[in-house]
Amino acid sequence: SEFVTVIGAGLAGSEAAWQLAQRGVAVRLYEMRPHKRSPAHQTDWCAELVCSNSLRSDDHENNAVGVLHQEMREAGSLILEQADRHKVPAGGALAVDRDAFAQGVSEALAAHPNITLIHEELHQPPTEGEVIIATGPLTSEPLSQWLEGVVGPRLAFFDAIAPIVAYDSIDFSKAWKQSRYDKGDGDDYINCPMDKAQYDAFVQGLLDGEKVAFKEFERDTPYFDGCLPIEVMAERGPETLRHGPLKPVGLTNPHPGMSKSHAIVQLRQDNKQATLWNMVGFQTKLTWPEQKRIFAAIPGLEGAEFVRLGAIHRNTFLNAPAVLTPQLTLKEHSRLTFAGQITGVEGYVESAATGLLAGVFVFRRLRGQDSVTPPPVTAHGALLAHLTEQAESRGFQPMNVNFGLFPPLAEPTTKKLRKPAYAARALSEWRSWAAQALHKA
Ligand code: FAD
Repeated sequence: SEFVTVIGAGLAGSEAAWQLAQRGVAVRLYEMRPHKRSPAHQTDWCAELVCSNSLRSDDHENNAVGVLHQEMREAGSLILEQADRHKVPAGGALAVDRDAFAQGVSEALAAHPNITLIHEELHQPPTEGEVIIATGPLTSEPLSQWLEGVVGPRLAFFDAIAPIVAYDSIDFSKAWKQSRYDKGDGDDYINCPMDKAQYDAFVQGLLDGEKVAFKEFERDTPYFDGCLPIEVMAERGPETLRHGPLKPVGLTNPHPGMSKSHAIVQLRQDNKQATLWNMVGFQTKLTWPEQKRIFAAIPGLEGAEFVRLGAIHRNTFLNAPAVLTPQLTLKEHSRLTFAGQITGVEGYVESAATGLLAGVFVFRRLRGQDSVTPPPVTAHGALLAHLTEQAESRGFQPMNVNFGLFPPLAEPTTKKLRKPAYAARALSEWRSWAAQALHKA
C-alpha cells in the first residue's frame, strides 16, 4: 500500500510527517535516536531544540519570523500548535518549555494512526516510493556520504556566513557603486572606503574582538581556503586584508576630495530585488555585538541594518538553487524531496516551515494534483524563493527568513510603515493561497 518515507524526526521531518498524516497518507518516519545521536542532540524526543528555547519574535504585524509563525499556525502546523501550548514568558518572543514542547510533538506523532515511528538510522533512502529527507545540519555520516555521491560538491559541510546589510541603511554620501575595473555592468558592487587610520583601527579591532569558540565537534574541521574568517586573515599580517578582499585597486571614489583610499570594503548584491547586500570576505567567528561594533566603524555603514551577522558552523546543506526544484525535489530524482536546514534555510521555524511545504507538495503529487508554490510575497514563498530562485548559486549560504527576501512593495512607503505593509500583504496572500492549495482531500 501507499506510504511516504520521512527520514529524520527533527523540526522539519516531524512537521512534514504530520502534514501528510493529517491528509490521510501513511508515513514511515525514521529517526536514528536513541541508537545514534548527533553531537548536538541530548534527548530522544522528536523535534528537540538543540540550543536556544526560542522560536524568535511572535509579532506577525512587524516581524518576518512572526509572519512565518502565523502562516504556519493557520496551516495547522504541529510545531506551532505545540509551541503555543508550551509557551513560556519571553516578551514578544515565542519561547517554549523545551522538554514539554518536544514531548508534546513526540506524543502527537506517536498517537497519529497514519504515522509509524521507526527508530533506525538510514544510510540511504529506500529505493522506491516518495521520500522526504529531513536529517538536518548534522545529518549522519553514511547518509551524508550517500548524498555527496549524488550531488557532489553541491553539498556543503560548513557554512561560512558573511554579514548582510539592508540596502536602504547604507550611507551613499560615503559609499558608492562600482565594479573593480568597471567589469560586468560597471556598478555591481557597493564600496566603502577606508583611510590608513581607519584601516589600522579596523584590523586591530578584528584581532582584539571577542570570538565565539568552536564546539567540540567542529574543532578538527579545517577551514576551506576560499572562506577563511576575516580575523584569521588579519592575524596573518596587517597588510593581508589590503591585498585580499579589501584591496583598493581598480576603484575610484567619486565623492569630492576622496579619490585615494587605503582599503575598500565591498558589498555584493545578495538577492534579486537588490535589497540585501553581503560584505565580501567578512565570514567570521566574532561575536554578534563585536561585529556590530567593529563593522559600524566602516565608512558608509555607520547606520547599517544587519539583517544577518557573520558566522561559521558545521552545517550539512545543499546548494539548493543548483540542485532543488521549487517543489524541493532533487532536479535529477523527483521522488526525493528535501526539508529543513539541509535545504539551506536557517533556524528552527524556517526548518519546520519547509517541512510543512514538503508535506503538502508530496501529498499533492501523490493525489495527481497540480504542483503549487506559495506566492513570493508570503513568508513561506520568500523562503522558498531564496532556495530555488537565487540569481547566483555560487555563493549560496543559509538564511533566516527576513523582509529583505520579500519582493518590494508596489507603493513606496515610509520606513516606519514598511514592515507592517510586508506583514499584512504576506498574510492576506497566504490566506487566499492556502484556501486553494492546503485543503486536505
Ligand atoms: P534536526 O532538528 O536536527 O532534525 C534532524 C533529525 O534527523 C534529527 O532528529 C537526527 O537525529 C535525525 N537524523 C540524522 N541523520 C539521520 C539518519 N541517517 N537516519 C535517521 N535519522 C537521522 N536554530 C535556531 O533557530 N535557534 C538556535 O538556537 C539554533 N541552534 C543551533 C545549534 C546547533 C549546534 C546547530 C547544529 C543548529 C542550530 N540551529 C538553531 C539551527 C537549526 O534550526 C536546527 O538545527 C534545527 O533543529 C534544524 O531542523 P531540522 O529538522 O532540519 O534538523
